[in-house]
Amino acid sequence: MSEVLVLVELLDGEVKKVTFELLTAARRLGEPSAVVVAAPGTAAKVRDALAGYGAAKVYAAESDDAAGYLVTPKVDALAAVAGSASPAAVLIAGSAEGKEVAGRLAVRLGAGLLVDVIDVDAEGTGTQSIFGGAYTVHSKVSQGIPVITLRPGALDAEAADGAADSASVEVPAVQEAKATKVLGREPIEGGDRPELTDANVVVSGGRGVGSSESFSVVEALADSLGAAVGASRAAVDSGYYPHQFQVGQTGKTVSPQLYIALGISGAIQHRAGMQTSKTIIAVNKDPEAPIFEVSDFGIVGDLFKVAPQLTEEVSKRKG
Ligand SMILES: Cc1cc2nc3c(=O)[nH]c(=O)nc-3n(C[C@H](O)[C@H](O)[C@H](O)COP(=O)(O)OP(=O)(O)OC[C@H]3O[C@@H](n4cnc5c(N)ncnc54)[C@H](O)[C@@H]3O)c2cc1C
Repeated sequence: MSEVLVLVELLDGEVKKVTFELLTAARRLGEPSAVVVAAPGTAAKVRDALAGYGAAKVYAAESDDAAGYLVTPKVDALAAVAGSASPAAVLIAGSAEGKEVAGRLAVRLGAGLLVDVIDVDAEGTGTQSIFGGAYTVHSKVSQGIPVITLRPGALDAEAADGAADSASVEVPAVQEAKATKVLGREPIEGGDRPELTDANVVVSGGRGVGSSESFSVVEALADSLGAAVGASRAAVDSGYYPHQFQVGQTGKTVSPQLYIALGISGAIQHRAGMQTSKTIIAVNKDPEAPIFEVSDFGIVGDLFKVAPQLTEEVSKRKG
């Protein structure tokens, strides 16, 4: 059976959930091989976690450069493994960085690229949900080793036993002039919450929230659910919440188990970033708001009355 390469995404030394989703998808196409591109010693620490989702092999592409530069070492390492293993496909998370790695890798390999797929079958046909979910597209790479990015949260990760045999890969020395060096790292705001694109639950606020102070209502509900906080572009542009939390066409794409929209009208550009969420709940005082068209449950009401009650009820049930 052919190998299928999966680029491992890490956060603070832990394997991100999307990697397990990628390994689950890879098992449909062949034998999953996880590729860890990170500081020395990282692969050994995450080997068991990767084995638990069926990784037959774990390539350690480790060096100080791998951790100290953006994107380039990952492309170099994947290109090196793809050259020797001739995999059936390369699967990469559809994060901002993942998409950049995938694009560059596809050019290097002279291969076709499928971005932002929400499903992939055993033949390598990917499914994409486009134009705010208005169309579903099925496409397949017809040239070279398919490079595919998978939208985080789109597939459920399923555990499976894998041998996780260790292999090491030499990371080519980074050409300084062509690479972007990491000069420092700072914890992100809201760092205790799950990462937006990786979270099982997302609570987002829109212009209806009205101010940055009032976003505490959104945060309180999110914290009661262990959720990430998101925001519409109108909320972000109005300065209510930082830009990195914007959900939508020009923000992040999320696909959590549960998405709660508070005071968001549901413009197509917002829907493009959240429409594939498994369950959508909207709170809006306008019964005609388009967000209700894509919602599984809708509450017509004032978010400042509804959200605190939800928070209280969730907290009560937890306690
Ligand atoms: C090229 C382009 C890219 C874009 N990219 C994005 C993107 O990535 N993400 C994105 O979100 N948008 C994006 N937009 C903007 C998008 O078109 C909308 O303008 C935006 O999504 C609106 O945000 P909103 O729903 O928060 O605000 P509004 O449309 O103003 O809606 C606010 C809603 O809050 C409700 N409301 C008000 N007060 C309350 C209350 N007290 N309780 C309950 N409900 C209340 C109102 O009834 C209303 O429905 C993009 C636009 C363009 C042109």
